[in-house]
Amino acid sequence: MPIPSLPAEGGCRCGRVRLRISAKPLLTMACHCTGCQKMSSSAYSLSAAIPADGFEITKGEPVIGGLHGASKHYFCGYCMSWMFTRPEGLDWFVNLRPTMLDDPAWFTPFVETWTSEKLPWAETPALHSYAALSAFEEYDGLVAEYAKSQA
Ligand SMILES: [Zn+2]
Ligand SMILES: [Zn+2]
Repeated sequence: MPIPSLPAEGGCRCGRVRLRISAKPLLTMACHCTGCQKMSSSAYSLSAAIPADGFEITKGEPVIGGLHGASKHYFCGYCMSWMFTRPEGLDWFVNLRPTMLDDPAWFTPFVETWTSEKLPWAETPALHSYAALSAFEEYDGLVAEYAKSQA
């Protein structure tokens, strides 16, 4: 389902950090890797890749969590919701956890990654599955196909 209207607002569990997106996702994803299993306290994480210039924090100040490595994972410092990720070396988009949005019902993962680490029962409706990550060269094609599917 395409995102119904922009801008769209969202926030963490407690509301101390609020955000707004004013651009459509480039791609939507589920990641089954064990790191995402731990950080999401669940079977997989969800991401909507939002162009960086269409993403803003409108209230509060998220803090860095996870491994504090080159990819920056941002959390609410009070309720500790895992809100979004700025992936290493990919500063033109932000991977937003779509359940932070006030209305996440439109979200469906288009791509799933790290199925080699998934829990045996975990399934998603993603059209493209990768045992690890998709190859970097495939990215543009996936973005184009996703845009077409949302038209
Ligand atoms: Zn919070
Ligand atoms: Zn992951």
